[in-house]
Amino acid sequence: MTDPAFSALQASDPALAAILKREVHRQNSTLQMIASENFTSPAVMAMQGSPLTNKYSEGYPGKRYYGGNAVVDEAEELARERVKALFGAEHANVQPHSGANANMAVYFALLNPGDKVMGLRLDQGGHLTHGSPVNFSGHLYNFVAYGVDPETERIDYAAVRALAVAEQPKLIIAGATAYPRSIDFAEFRSIADEVGALLMVDAAHIAGLIAGGAHPSPVPYADVVTFTTHKTLRGPRAGCILSRAEHAAAIDKAIFPGLQGGPLMHAVAAKAVAFAEAQRPEFREYAAQIVRNARALSDGLIAEGFRIVSGGTDNHMVLVDLRPFGVNGKVAQNALDSAGIVCNKNAIPNDPEKPFVTSGIRLGTASVTTTGMTESEMAVIAAMIGEVLRSPEDEQVCASVLLRVNSLCANFVPYPGLYD
Ligand SMILES: *Cc1c(COP(=O)(O)O)cnc(C)c1O
Repeated sequence: MTDPAFSALQASDPALAAILKREVHRQNSTLQMIASENFTSPAVMAMQGSPLTNKYSEGYPGKRYYGGNAVVDEAEELARERVKALFGAEHANVQPHSGANANMAVYFALLNPGDKVMGLRLDQGGHLTHGSPVNFSGHLYNFVAYGVDPETERIDYAAVRALAVAEQPKLIIAGATAYPRSIDFAEFRSIADEVGALLMVDAAHIAGLIAGGAHPSPVPYADVVTFTTHKTLRGPRAGCILSRAEHAAAIDKAIFPGLQGGPLMHAVAAKAVAFAEAQRPEFREYAAQIVRNARALSDGLIAEGFRIVSGGTDNHMVLVDLRPFGVNGKVAQNALDSAGIVCNKNAIPNDPEKPFVTSGIRLGTASVTTTGMTESEMAVIAAMIGEVLRSPEDEQVCASVLLRVNSLCANFVPYPGLYD
């Protein structure tokens, strides 16, 4: 039976209804391997697409600017209590519209313009909001970057410590958008303590793994932890901030009224739904399977002849050095796209290519794990990636792989029958 909300959309706006249907078909029938993506649950989508979008709720539960907030106050309270329990945090702000907003609010709360901040080099896995010159963070603050060891391609903690001692930053950021290894938060805490810096962990990518016990938690070590709720955590597209109680007031003020207006109450409530899903025992098994799948994918790609950055993975992500295949990241992304394997080109450490070309691709296993795939499917996917990238210009190869991707995906459909 057609969903009545979708029927209403088809009647009022057939053009957008058709686009929605085609995008769901794309998600259902091709491999989503972008490491920052996932398939959120129908329960989360029901809340995200609900009339809670109509409510103005500037302020916080019990302290709103407008009337009529008694009901949605309960939703935000549940979101805060659930996420604090999930991560063992003292304070939570569940209003950030996105991961970037969460980071901005933390900087506003803890720093003054011009203050010195240390983060991972952007071309070695750091995020735009960790000091990119084209981002507000690079404009407002004085970022100095640490990197990975050129041999091991892992964070060089001794070098991080030496840089911190030399630079005396006010804030150190641990966390990355393209780093396939576990991060040693205790080591970062010890470095921060040695130089009297605050420690922020940006757990955007790994929040779901932390919640599911598949990556060590930063919460005992960090002053503040930011994360997105839509990556491995599998919730709505949004952000969240956890902090020690001493920073609670400053962070809440930085989000509202400092940076945002009314919270997206439909998203806040959808975060509450996702936090409850992440508290269930099945989520622990899910997080562990994401990591097993990433290892299987990495092993399969090594067998195909690729070089894997850092030699493997501890999380949901595999960074592939394409140079043994004589193909760059841009060409690889396009060829894989036409074969139904959706991923992104990505710089590898000390990449000789420009950022819009790159020598690598980044692959993630969160989405395919959500659909129920396990290690045996990862081996099949690795072989198909090898086949495409051995002849990236051959349209027949791409077309042949696309057919096999479609039939593989037919057994692992994230949204079966949606809008049919
Ligand atoms: C994805 C990501 C963000 C930003 O999240 P948005 O919701 O896209 O703003 C911030 N930091 C890191 C490390 C990320 O990977």
